[in-house]
Amino acid sequence: MEQKIFVTQSSMPPFEEYIEAIKPLWDSHWLTNMGTYHQQLEEKLCEYLDVPYISLMVNGHMALELTLQAFDFPEGSEVITTPFTFISTTHAIVRNRLQPVFCDVKLSDGTIDEAKIEDLITEKTVAILPVHVYGNVCNVEEIQKIADKYGLKVIYDAAHAFGVKYKDKGIGNYGDASVFSFHATKVFNTIEGGAITFSDQKLYDRLYNLKNFGIRGEELVVSVGANAKMNEFAAVMGLCNLKHIDEAIDERKKRVRIYHNKLENVKGVSMFHHREECSENYAYFPIIVGEDYRKKRDELYDLLKKHDIYSRKYFYPLTSDQACFKNKYKKCELDHARSLAEKVLVLPLYEKMEIEAVGRIVDIIQQ
Ligand SMILES: *Cc1c(COP(=O)(O)O)cnc(C)c1O
Repeated sequence: MEQKIFVTQSSMPPFEEYIEAIKPLWDSHWLTNMGTYHQQLEEKLCEYLDVPYISLMVNGHMALELTLQAFDFPEGSEVITTPFTFISTTHAIVRNRLQPVFCDVKLSDGTIDEAKIEDLITEKTVAILPVHVYGNVCNVEEIQKIADKYGLKVIYDAAHAFGVKYKDKGIGNYGDASVFSFHATKVFNTIEGGAITFSDQKLYDRLYNLKNFGIRGEELVVSVGANAKMNEFAAVMGLCNLKHIDEAIDERKKRVRIYHNKLENVKGVSMFHHREECSENYAYFPIIVGEDYRKKRDELYDLLKKHDIYSRKYFYPLTSDQACFKNKYKKCELDHARSLAEKVLVLPLYEKMEIEAVGRIVDIIQQ
């Protein structure tokens, strides 16, 4: 009996390394509230992500919610986004009492189709919230041009794009803010965690207040805020994982290369296109199961499952088609997004994945 293979496996540092690193917490008893490890991780991540400012959060979703809140948009304003993403992106908009306006994506890489944004802009539009889906970089230049022309904010959901660079600059430098997720299943994890990167220093204070109840002194609360701080155990996990991140990405790359080479010539199977001047983090390995393939996407998913290989239909259904959002918002043409959602399949990929397992999966797909 072969071992079950899941779509991902969380990266963890060597046990002793983490244990050694958390020992000082037993002396200090300082477990959260922006302790030394929280500060250290902010510094190290600014360096690694090549960004001027970062604010750590308890998870990526709260980072998204609080970023939108930090811009203080009027209630009911419209935010142009895509439905080909994890549900968190749309929830963050709606939970801020803003209205999502769903823009179609490009078939080539699943990111927002910048050519279709302008048609969706109304006098209620305040922001664009595109997703660097699978770490594929959006057309940041065109998006910025549109935003500048109409006076809109740009907030990137960069949950998948840890460490990705575009034109030799960290991806977190584009737009007004970029939100990363450090969830256990992401390329870089702090168990649960997230962060916002940005270049306007004023945003740091606003996010600080939002993540810590607006507390600015023992007897002073300056604004209404939530609690979304990253704790010290999570920050230490981040510091440990960060030491191994380049190696982890390299190991993923090796497996992606094998997948790529072997699947390239399988009829009906295609892969996303990578834009020039973008580095990759190999966060996911999505394939498109086209009409020419001998099975439908769902049949391939089931076949793999029969072999104890658990792929995932990321992202299906579209968030706009989910029960909680269906028919609630403006109807937009989403042909490409829908087509991708019906054909995409994310194959297992993680740094410790057996090379032999990659071959086994490819064999089943080729059969
Ligand atoms: C993971 C993810 C999030 C949410 O991050 P969490 O850390 O899980 O809260 C948001 N958007 C996308 C696209 C994601 O994949």
